[in-house]
Order: sequence, then C-alpha cells, then structure tokens
Amino acid sequence: MSRFWSPVVHTLSPYVPGEQPKQDGIVKLNTNENPYPPSPRVLAAVASAAERLRLYPDPGATRLREAIAAHCDVRPEQVFVGNGSDEVLAHTFQALLKHNMPLLFPDVTYSFYPVYCGLYGITHDEVPLDAAMRIDISDYRRPSSAILLCNPNAPTGIALQRDAIASLLAEQPDRLVVVDEAYVDFGAESAVPLVARHDNLLVIQTFSKSRSLAGLRVGFAIGQRPLIEALERVKDSFNSYPVDCLAIAGAVAAIEDDGWFRKTRARIIANRETLARELGQLGFEVLPSLANFVFARHRNRSGTDLAAALRQRGVLVRHFGKPRIEDFLRITVGTEAECARLVEVLRGLI
Ligand SMILES: *Cc1c(COP(=O)(O)O)cnc(C)c1O
Repeated sequence: MSRFWSPVVHTLSPYVPGEQPKQDGIVKLNTNENPYPPSPRVLAAVASAAERLRLYPDPGATRLREAIAAHCDVRPEQVFVGNGSDEVLAHTFQALLKHNMPLLFPDVTYSFYPVYCGLYGITHDEVPLDAAMRIDISDYRRPSSAILLCNPNAPTGIALQRDAIASLLAEQPDRLVVVDEAYVDFGAESAVPLVARHDNLLVIQTFSKSRSLAGLRVGFAIGQRPLIEALERVKDSFNSYPVDCLAIAGAVAAIEDDGWFRKTRARIIANRETLARELGQLGFEVLPSLANFVFARHRNRSGTDLAAALRQRGVLVRHFGKPRIEDFLRITVGTEAECARLVEVLRGLI
C-alpha cells in the first residue's frame, strides 16, 4: 500500500493467471494453451515482419481485420482487434457494459469478469448455473443492463447451442448480449452468424487457444457497427497500437493456414474424448466438454488434494478453491503423451 495510490487501486482484487513454471519437464495442463505449435507459416510471417520493427504498425490492423472478416463471413468494419481477447473484453466492459442496472453473468464462469467489474466500477449479479452446471437462459430474464456469457463456458466446458443464444437475443432486443467464444473452435456453435440479424450481439474470440498463439496476444470482437465503434473510441483513447506488427503478420498467417488449424483442432478433440473416457474409468465425473479442457471431479478424492499431489509429481492442472467447484480439476487437453502421463500419475494416486 502506498499513499500515492489512486483510491480505486486499494479496492482492486486482480485476476490470478495459472502458474507458468520455470523448470523443464513439467506436464503443463493448467492454462488451456494449445499443446501443438502454431503453423510454420506463422513463424515465417513473424520473421519477415520483424524487418519492419522500426516502423509503427497499422493502427487499424486492416490486413488482420480483413482476414478475420473473410474467415467469419462479416465485413472488416464489423471486426475489432486487440492485444488478446482479455484486452477486447476490458474495452467491452468500459465501452458497453457500464450502466445503471447490473450486468449479469453466471456464478461459475471466467473469473476475469468480476475483476473488470471492479476495475471499471460496474455492478453485476451472478446467476447460478443449474444443478448440472449448465447455463439456463430462462434464468436471465431478470432486470439487467446487459448479459455476458462464455460459450463454451469456462471452466465447465459446457456449451449452449446457437439457437439458445438466438432466443435470448430475440427475447431481450434492448439488452446487449456479449458472448465470449474463447473455446468455440473445439466443437461448439459460434454465434457469429447471428450478428447480421441482431444489433444487440457482440461476439469475442481469441487466437490464443485454437490457433496456438497465446504468446502473440491477439483477440477480436465481431458485432454491428455501433458496437464496434464504441470499442474503437475506447481503444483510440487508450493505445493507438495495441496489436503490434509481428502479431498482425502472425495472426494473418494463422488464419490463412486453415489446414493446420483443422488438423491440430481434430487432434485435440480426439485427445479430449480419450482423456474423458479414461478419467471416467478412474472414477471421475467428467462434464461434457466442447472446449480444449475437461472439468472433472473424483467420487471420493478432494480437488485440493488431487491438484497438490499431481503438482508434486510434475503435472500441473488448474484448481479453483471456490464454492461449488472446489472438488473439480480443470485439465487442459494436452498432447497424446501428456494426457497419457496425467492418467498414469492419477492411476498411481487413486
Ligand atoms: C483464455 C481466455 C480468454 C483470454 O484470452 P486471450 O489470451 O487474452 O486472448 C478470454 N476468455 C476466456 C473465457 C478465456 O479462457
């Protein structure tokens, strides 16, 4: 604490990211990174962009917005890009979610959302997931300024179908619905095709997970012009160049190498199904995941103990000491060998 702090700083409780271990040889299944490397074309594009480091990047990241627009079948003006989707989310909170009524999001969801509420002074209500840990959109009919859903939800991995999002949008045309689709590429239905018909929808995605580019920091939002303009106004009052020239080049190359994307994604989906089956055989209840992680709890072992024992044996998973989910482990789907190692260690423990 310091007497020089602005008052709000005293009240912040910052987000705590998963551990990034310094030593080698750890099986790292705790931060939902992609276990496969990015496309070789990304590395070539980044190397060649490095020749232009002397210059500022394009503040509008036009090439990247065009590539995303073509891939998502929208117009480039309907795309906003930022330094990771966390930054896109931050601008969304400030530009679109700060009103007199509370913002709604699930009680179990991405734990950065309440942190942004604290940073920007936004009131929120947490809507409990149902008994099966699912989002029930009929629970979101209560008074609010806006609704924020993560789909598939984190850390459960459970997805809503596009039809459910469409009903919510139609039911509440005067309420903004933001859908965080950080994991959508691993098998869920994206809400992006609904953007054309609904001016109250903003969809946010990232290159960090399905494109294997967590280290490059690129995320984006898709919505109709007035929503994107709000994000642009905040961004241009904050940082003109959030996406640097290496990130623009790398992300464009990642979009262009669709073959690589499909191949690595298919492997992760196959590994997820194998992992879920093997965890089930070891006595875990595994929630039905459409993400690149599974959320699982053991019949008779505490989550805290299992996470600690795994850690001691060189396997990192994520554990949240929060009500309702304290016995669950969130396990990132790794390579075939990483998943096999996890299962082997668990077999020894259980
Ligand atoms: C990983 C993640 C993000 C943030 O990803 P960036 O690396 O900042 O693009 C956003 N939302 C959810 C739910 C995530 O899991």
